[in-house]
Amino acid sequence: MAEFGVSEAALTGGGLAVRSPVNGALIAEVRLDTKADCERAVEAADSAFRIWRLVPAPKRGELVRLFGEELRARKSALGHLIAIETGKILQEGLGEVQEMIDICGFAAGLSRQLYGLTLPSERPGHRMMETWHPLGVAGVITAFNFPVAVWAWNAAITLVCGDTLVWKPSEKTPLCALACQALLERAAKRLESIPSAVGAVILGGPELGEALAANPRVPLVSATGSTRMGRALAPRIAQRFGRAILELGGNNGAIVTPTADLALAARAILFAAAGTAGQRCTSLRRLFLHESVYDELMARLKAAYAQIPVGNPLTDGTLVGPLIGRAAFESMQESLSEARRDGAKVFGGERLYEDLWPEAFYVRPALAELPRQTPVVARETFAPVLYVMRYRDLDAAIREHNAVAQGLASSIFTRDLGEAELFMSGAGSDCGIVNVNIGPSGAEIGGAFGGEKETGGGREAGSDAWKTYMRRATNTINSSQGLPLAQGIRFDAPR
Ligand code: NAD
Repeated sequence: MAEFGVSEAALTGGGLAVRSPVNGALIAEVRLDTKADCERAVEAADSAFRIWRLVPAPKRGELVRLFGEELRARKSALGHLIAIETGKILQEGLGEVQEMIDICGFAAGLSRQLYGLTLPSERPGHRMMETWHPLGVAGVITAFNFPVAVWAWNAAITLVCGDTLVWKPSEKTPLCALACQALLERAAKRLESIPSAVGAVILGGPELGEALAANPRVPLVSATGSTRMGRALAPRIAQRFGRAILELGGNNGAIVTPTADLALAARAILFAAAGTAGQRCTSLRRLFLHESVYDELMARLKAAYAQIPVGNPLTDGTLVGPLIGRAAFESMQESLSEARRDGAKVFGGERLYEDLWPEAFYVRPALAELPRQTPVVARETFAPVLYVMRYRDLDAAIREHNAVAQGLASSIFTRDLGEAELFMSGAGSDCGIVNVNIGPSGAEIGGAFGGEKETGGGREAGSDAWKTYMRRATNTINSSQGLPLAQGIRFDAPR
């Protein structure tokens, strides 16, 4: 932590215990903030906003560029910290930091492209245009499984848009948050007159998230986590007419058609379903196999699942690390039991290394073959469980695929152009992410990220997602001597 600039004192004696899922050991006790701390952080961010919004956008982009440099210089250290605090394998920890670096590059470029439209006016001597302005303080709430990348998507875009932010990370990953906050502060010190409170972090559980979301001085709340969290939070934000970006649970499906390249599909499915121990919002959870490819693909998947290296995420060669904790393990086992009661044949799913690490929860990823989609399949279980079902007719498979409440990510594996186009069309997948011949997980920052239905409808990261972080003004400018009214309305005052 010293490498990031976090003092030893910040890691001991606090009210928030931090345990590593790698071995269950207590690794730090950081401060536990209160609602009053949240209020103070928002107040400071609001004052900083009054200054920051006046800084030219390309200069704001320079802060984000420098932050990207800080990340580049400490990619390895931060990648290790992510692996230790979340249990994801080092490769994925490093990938998460790379994603942060990438969004910094994107946002630095964006800082010169916050453009609006110029529109023809119906009135002579008039011109219309749209301008984009900073919005205020953004409240950012993040989940444990992407402890820093999701914040970075929000922070990089927020800062170039001229907003300031207060971050409430997952209570399971405060060390990653302290490290990133320290790096942002380092970057800010490299520039002159950047207000110190452009970004702040508050540490604690749901009650702090609630306080942040309810604060009327936070015009935008970007919240990532379970649908349960979104359901609790959204009405609070709506009640005060705040703006919300909700990135909630997924229950992602893939369809494998008769023409698919099965070797490619098997590799993609393994990464999407077992990678990150099934703890990505975009993890593959539901697989629909055409009956003609079912046996061959299942044989490939079972061989791969039997051999996939599960173990210490910091060890070279490991592909699946531990679950985040006991509750995740228990919820996985409950879902597998329910699936068995529904007639599932389950392959894998057993606990590993219990003797070695009784307080860490390693599992072999599970395949559950089911005759049809039952309620357990329709629920998101945040663990490596892949439900597999057989189909005969593609239209029926797409209907089944869409018959769940979540709408984040989806895939089709096919060499048939017509099938691929159908899946991507309005009559196809109803998700925010629709892929062909790659799995549903592993998005790039250039696209807008988010999902439909109970996934919340928010969009973050690339494309034009920045517009949600700004206030749009429509301007009409009259450079003529007259005052014609729109729609030809006559309103001539008596002279
Ligand atoms: P979680 O909902 O338990 O917690 C997420 C964050 O919300 C944490 O910071 C937590 O403290 C806070 N929180 C929880 N309840 C709250 C409440 N009532 N009010 C205010 N704040 C509250 O989720 P988790 O276990 O950390 O993460 C896993 C979940 O997140 C999965 O459902 C996964 O699909 C989802 N997720 C979604 C995306 C996405 O982009 N759609 C990305 C990552 C994770």
